[in-house]
Amino acid sequence: SREIQLASRPEGWPADENFRLAEVPVPKLEDGQVLVRNLYMSVDPYMRGRMNDVKSYVPPFQIDAPLDGGAIGEVVESRSEGHRPGDKVLHGLGWRDYAVLDGKRARVIDAEAAPASAYLGVLGMTGLTAYAGLTKVAEFKEGDVVFVSGAAGAVGSLVGQIAKAMGAKKVIGSAGSAEKVQRLLDLGFDEAFNYHDGPVKESLKKAAGADGIDVYFDNVGGEHLEAAIAVMNKYGRIAMCGAISQYNTTDAPTGPRNLALAIGKELTLRGFIVGSYNQYADEFAELMSGWLNDGRVSYDETFVDGLENAPQAFIDLMKGANKGKMIVTLQA
Ligand code: NDP
Repeated sequence: SREIQLASRPEGWPADENFRLAEVPVPKLEDGQVLVRNLYMSVDPYMRGRMNDVKSYVPPFQIDAPLDGGAIGEVVESRSEGHRPGDKVLHGLGWRDYAVLDGKRARVIDAEAAPASAYLGVLGMTGLTAYAGLTKVAEFKEGDVVFVSGAAGAVGSLVGQIAKAMGAKKVIGSAGSAEKVQRLLDLGFDEAFNYHDGPVKESLKKAAGADGIDVYFDNVGGEHLEAAIAVMNKYGRIAMCGAISQYNTTDAPTGPRNLALAIGKELTLRGFIVGSYNQYADEFAELMSGWLNDGRVSYDETFVDGLENAPQAFIDLMKGANKGKMIVTLQA
């Protein structure tokens, strides 16, 4: 079986040499365990943080050990009561062809109800991040004007569509290319701009117009966050989900330099981790299946083929090569 190991810790942008494809034996099954052949794995921006040797909410990856992360696979052998060969499962041991894990850590998914890959994205952690961040963290309410950055990505594209489905007055998205801007408009965003076209603050001001913005869902940090604080209405709420503009830089953060505006505007800035919102998973699953069924939410996926290409897929993700959820397909 093959796995991708962390060969060295990246400084700044990760490169090929930080990863290694290794051939390893498949461990023998113990009682309670399942052997899973992986079919899809997720690459996610948060994995960049785990490549650094720093304490965070998830422990760092270890040098010479395999990476891990969300994956969907098929059970090929089971010594766990709740699993049969053929079951499709969601689990946390991606970045390898075969995974051996405790049955309790492999959740059987309903592969009839939706394509299996959707459980890594729209129906999984990605979707819950969008929903919980918007409705619980930013306390979105009907009639709000919402701005979301990273809007053509996995989380961002769902945030905008959920906000529309729940009665936003206006939804504004930013993304890194003209093609992505067009996609946002096709998905029902009211306004969208390419953040490379000029200062974010100017583009955002123009898009928001006299309405201003009530909610900012921040995937990017830095200049985007500063711009949102500048354009935000009184009592505006910001859900701090990610700061991808800073994950690979070795320079000091570029902003926000205007945080003091939060005082007079009485803004709320609240960071969150999706793992703290699992109590909303059922509520979310029900709403999302409704929105998917009635067509109010659609989702994009970008597939990269082959475990050996997973490191490049991860690097490309952070360079914006994806529309919607970036997924690596495996075929051991
Ligand atoms: P995406 O699918 O959004 O992929 C990342 C995107 O970031 C790229 O497609 C790229 O699009 C954009 N990007 C990269 N660099 C920059 C930059 N300098 N400025 C602006 N945009 C940039 O990934 P996810 O949807 O999985 O994650 C989105 C954010 O949410 C990340 O910050 C991630 O860390 C965070 N997150 C947080 C969670 C939590 O629990 N708090 C859970 C899940 C995700 P473009 O072409 O537009 O530049």
